[in-house]
Amino acid sequence: APAVEFAGVTKHYGGPAGSAVVALDDVSLAVEAGEIFGILGESGAGKSTLLRLCNGLESPSAGRVSVEGTDLSTLSKARLAAMRRRIGVVFQGFNLLGNRTVRQNIELPLKLQRTRDREFVDQLLDFVSLSHRAGNYPAQLSGGEKQRVAIARSLVTRPGVLLCDEPTSALDTQTTHDILNLLVHTRDRFGTTIVIVTHELDVVKAICRRAAVFEGGRLRETLTVRGERREK
Ligand code: ADP
Ligand code: ADP
Repeated sequence: APAVEFAGVTKHYGGPAGSAVVALDDVSLAVEAGEIFGILGESGAGKSTLLRLCNGLESPSAGRVSVEGTDLSTLSKARLAAMRRRIGVVFQGFNLLGNRTVRQNIELPLKLQRTRDREFVDQLLDFVSLSHRAGNYPAQLSGGEKQRVAIARSLVTRPGVLLCDEPTSALDTQTTHDILNLLVHTRDRFGTTIVIVTHELDVVKAICRRAAVFEGGRLRETLTVRGERREK
């Protein structure tokens, strides 16, 4: 099964028919397991709505959203919560807790599940090259380092799918390059399927195999990019 599948998905917000905002209009797409897939579009195109549907934060007005072969609408609250642990999220603004260290931020999702895995947290610190920063607080880090913490935190529950919402929009060119490479390494090392929302074509060209272009809630076209870059 595809890692993420939208079948005829429409999402509208508020109001009776006619006054409702159509955020997504009859969208069908399939992201294959292990793929790095781009969602491109200007502000208001429906990209955030698509991500919120992927992780079950919202449900479609029509159509079906499936993750790893499971239609999210068929899940009980408890099973949806379990499924959401199979989905990692990385945001533009990093969303780290300022009063927790790097290590504590990365451990947080495990703590919320009342579990721990010190060895895996150590591995992730090493994977994002922040072992030497484990005891620092977010305010002591650069933007790129903060995003590396956020990526490690998103991976700590071993998600099959990672959703990235404009992960490099707050970063300079060199740091953007580093973070995009880290996402490719994430896919290579953990087999994670990655969906990356961006308004920048360069981001798509750098790491995506394919990308869906959205405009006014409609999927306009699917681009196939020559292949994914891998470099050290
Ligand atoms: P993007 O992420 O591409 O900027 P969004 O998914 O945020 O697009 O928004 C798509 C459309 O849906 C926009 O017109 C937006 O104003 C509208 N929209 C998004 N979320 C809501 C909401 N919670 N309530 C009402 N309208 C919304
Ligand atoms: P983005 O472009 O990154 O989606 P927005 O500023 O459009 O950022 O949206 C931020 C939040 O506001 C989102 O959670 C979205 O659902 C909500 N939102 C967007 N448009 C509307 C709207 N017209 N009415 C209510 N909520 C909205």
